[in-house]
Amino acid sequence: MSSPTLTAGCGCGAVRLAIDAPLEAAAYCHCTRCQRRSGTAAQASGRVKPGSATIVEGEDRVGRWDAGDGLLKCFCRDCGSALFAADRDTGAVVVVRLGAIDGDPGVRPQARQFVANAAPWEPIPDDGLPRFDGRLPG
Ligand SMILES: [Zn+2]
Ligand SMILES: [Zn+2]
Repeated sequence: MSSPTLTAGCGCGAVRLAIDAPLEAAAYCHCTRCQRRSGTAAQASGRVKPGSATIVEGEDRVGRWDAGDGLLKCFCRDCGSALFAADRDTGAVVVVRLGAIDGDPGVRPQARQFVANAAPWEPIPDDGLPRFDGRLPG
C-alpha cells in the first residue's frame, strides 16, 4: 500500500477516509437536499476517482440517507458531519464533501449546480463559475 494522497474525516474523529488518487473535479451544489443536510446555502463536493476512496475507521458509525433517488448521503452518526455520497447499488464512495478533507483537497469548485433552488438568504457569489439551474451536465 502506498501512502494515501488525501485523508478525510468527521468532526468527532469516529469516521476516517483515505483517498489514494487526486480528486477529479469539484462543484458547489445549491439543491434543497444539500441545504437541509449541511445546514448551509451550498455544499462543495469533490468527485473521487472510482475505487480510490476507502473508509479506514468507523464504518459502523456511518449513517446513510436514502432520499429515494440519486446517491446515498453519508454522514457520521455520532457528530452529524456530512462526509461523502455513495452509489446506491455498490456502496462505493462517489463524491467527498470538501469540508471533510484534511488540508488542501487539491481541487477547487469549478461550477455551481441547482442554482434554481438557491437559498433566498445568501446571494450566489459572483465568482465567475458557470451556473446550472439543475444538475451539472456530464
Ligand atoms: Zn463524527
Ligand atoms: Zn445537492
